[in-house]
Amino acid sequence: MSRPVVYLLPHEDRRLGAGHLWVFSNEIDTHRSPLGSFAPGDPVVLADARGRRLGMGYINPHSLITVRLLSRDPGSEIDARFFHDRFERAFAVRRPFGIERFGRLVFGESDRLPGLVVDRYGDYLVVQITTAGMERWREVIRDALVGSCAPRGILYRNDSDARKLEGLPAGVEEAWGTVPQSVTVEEGGRVFAVSPWRGQKTGWYYDQREHRLRIAREAPRGRVLDVFSYVGGFGISALAGGSQEAVLIDQSEEALERARSNAAANGLPAPRTLAGDAFEILRALGEDEERFELVIVDPPAFIKRRKDQREGLLAYERLVTRAARLVASGGWLVFASCSSHLEARDFRGVFARGVRRAGREARIVSVGGQGPDHPIHPWIPETSYLQVLYGVIEEG
Ligand code: SAH
Repeated sequence: MSRPVVYLLPHEDRRLGAGHLWVFSNEIDTHRSPLGSFAPGDPVVLADARGRRLGMGYINPHSLITVRLLSRDPGSEIDARFFHDRFERAFAVRRPFGIERFGRLVFGESDRLPGLVVDRYGDYLVVQITTAGMERWREVIRDALVGSCAPRGILYRNDSDARKLEGLPAGVEEAWGTVPQSVTVEEGGRVFAVSPWRGQKTGWYYDQREHRLRIAREAPRGRVLDVFSYVGGFGISALAGGSQEAVLIDQSEEALERARSNAAANGLPAPRTLAGDAFEILRALGEDEERFELVIVDPPAFIKRRKDQREGLLAYERLVTRAARLVASGGWLVFASCSSHLEARDFRGVFARGVRRAGREARIVSVGGQGPDHPIHPWIPETSYLQVLYGVIEEG
């Protein structure tokens, strides 16, 4: 097969040589390979300035990340076999952790499948394609998944913002079999019903799995406050671990309704649910002098782009302050960030300042990240995004 060649400028092959998978637009020799000659998603061969073939990938001439490498073999056929092989490797990485049936099976770049995410909910798969390049193989991907996992249904959850930037249409559709409105996640002996069609992302946040398990195992008992609770993952895990009472905050009434039925499905006491803006509700709870032995704060990303940095840091700090006020002395504040542009040092700084502004003292007893089904690509910092601080909060 003859594929068009994208030539890099002199020395711009270094990062790829070191293990990265991306080529930025300013690294391409646009005289030799004019970007106008490519359509979004075209498969291309990559070559360095001397013409040495480095591998193959796909291009989007309108994207800052212009080429993403799929294979270091420039002649690689991208067919069901290619995907099957990549899937098998991804499964093998997850198998020792026992997360093949309920977990993320494919995490984009980290599994050398840029633009593709696959989450597994037992017999069902939920797929997100985020680039024009991956979109070219959507049927091939479906066939390879059917071959590798024999699922009862595959849902293409193609409604992410990233698709708009790639000029791709948004839509949610069954690509194979049927997928029910509600599927069940099994985690640590608990069950959680989630909606793959309408829920956040693909329906569930597998990246926090280890932290929910840990909360069930080790966190202080008493009252638990789960802020940004979604369908109750943390609060219900705490109840299962022995917390007597849970309060859940989320702006989505639909998520809270699921949280209440999830608690019941696990034979646990009904949580109190507060629908609305978490910042406001935390302030109100503070004014009422409520106290909790365990407060978990797992907000959406406040720093999605570098330019959100200032505002984002302030939002995190404000949340820490309002949450820290509510922690009983000796209790835990578990605080998470899923902003990939937030450096660990800045996150700790925000945590420290927020706690001080609440007039409290903190010790960080543990620092965690995403689980092994969200592996980190060692050369792509963007693949490392989840940070979780476990702080013990005391009187100032
Ligand atoms: N802790 C959850 C995941 C949280 S996802 C788990 O482990 O499964 C983030 C949640 O924050 C979403 O459910 C969203 O509805 C909610 N949310 C976003 N902004 C909010 C706000 N300002 N106030 C309250 N909830 C908010």
